[in-house]
Amino acid sequence: MIPFSTFEPMHKEVAAEMQAAFQKVFEKGWFIQGEECSAFEKEYADYCNAKYCIGVGNGLDALLLILRGYGIGKGDEVIVPSNTFIATALAVTYAGATPVFVEPRLRSYTIDPELIEEKITERTKAIIAVQLYGQASDMDEICKIAKKHGLKVIEDAAQAHGSTYKGRKVGSLADAAGFSFYPGKNLGALGDAGAVVTDDEELAKKVRALGNYGSDYKYHHIYQGHNTRLDELQAAFLRVKLANLDRWNAGRHQVAERYLKEISNPLVTLPTVEEYGTHVFHIFAIRCDRRDELEKFLNEKGIGTNCHYPIPIHMQEAYKDLQIPQGTYPIAEQISATELSIPLYYGMTDEEAGRVIKAINEFR
Ligand SMILES: *Cc1c(COP(=O)(O)O)cnc(C)c1O
Repeated sequence: MIPFSTFEPMHKEVAAEMQAAFQKVFEKGWFIQGEECSAFEKEYADYCNAKYCIGVGNGLDALLLILRGYGIGKGDEVIVPSNTFIATALAVTYAGATPVFVEPRLRSYTIDPELIEEKITERTKAIIAVQLYGQASDMDEICKIAKKHGLKVIEDAAQAHGSTYKGRKVGSLADAAGFSFYPGKNLGALGDAGAVVTDDEELAKKVRALGNYGSDYKYHHIYQGHNTRLDELQAAFLRVKLANLDRWNAGRHQVAERYLKEISNPLVTLPTVEEYGTHVFHIFAIRCDRRDELEKFLNEKGIGTNCHYPIPIHMQEAYKDLQIPQGTYPIAEQISATELSIPLYYGMTDEEAGRVIKAINEFR
């Protein structure tokens, strides 16, 4: 059996360090807003080449606090890709604003800058560019449009820790970025965790207060804030894992390179790595018109698969109030109908990767 994903090879390498991290926090007896969180924030800001990092409870909250931090809310519109995980749209909804969907480029799965401008109205306040599957959107093009219309650009970087665009790190490509450290992400905690990364000092201060009950000073509340903080245990675990992230991403990359070279089934479309950057392959997304058959074929051979994501947001029950009919976003709908995520994880053996390649190439 080849799982779709597993942490096992990573966790084996750091087991002793993770246990020591637990021991240190446990013995210290300080669990929220302490030294581990501050140290991780500094290390992760440095890793992203950004000035500030604020640890929060999860990736959804990271995006929500950025929007609230910029004063985006009721009556405002925020542009989001039509083919993202629902959290991107939920952050906009929770802030009180309305998500406005823009289709992706099919080849890269990231938002198509050429389709953004026609969706901008007087109500538009920001664009959320999702660095989907581990690859950056075409940020220079997006930022150009945003500048022209006075909009904020926010990265949803939940799937792209360590990825680059024109030599610059994801997380430092726009006004602010939201990261998730959900266990399955390339940099994952042992529970829920997230962070906001930015160079904007004012936003950083506001996000820090918003995530801590709106408090900038103990029992002094300037906003009606949230309770969404990165706890000491998760921060300590993340510090151990961050030190290994580049190496683990390189391991994923090796598998992806083989897939790109050796999968040669004409029924299958492989993902494109854009010239402008590096891909960290959070997800290796292939497409096949007979996706469900291919999935069944692979599963029967003991190969785990997944689909990101089977129903586009505008067709989800949760967003029926937007009253967007099927057929409105044909590219997102096509991706949902044909995308298949195949196994890719650090520590995947040559033999395992070879079996995945062989099975896909055998599908007729
Ligand atoms: C995982 C993810 C999120 C949300 O992160 P959580 O930590 O699960 O809240 C947001 N956007 C994208 C694209 C994601 O993949």
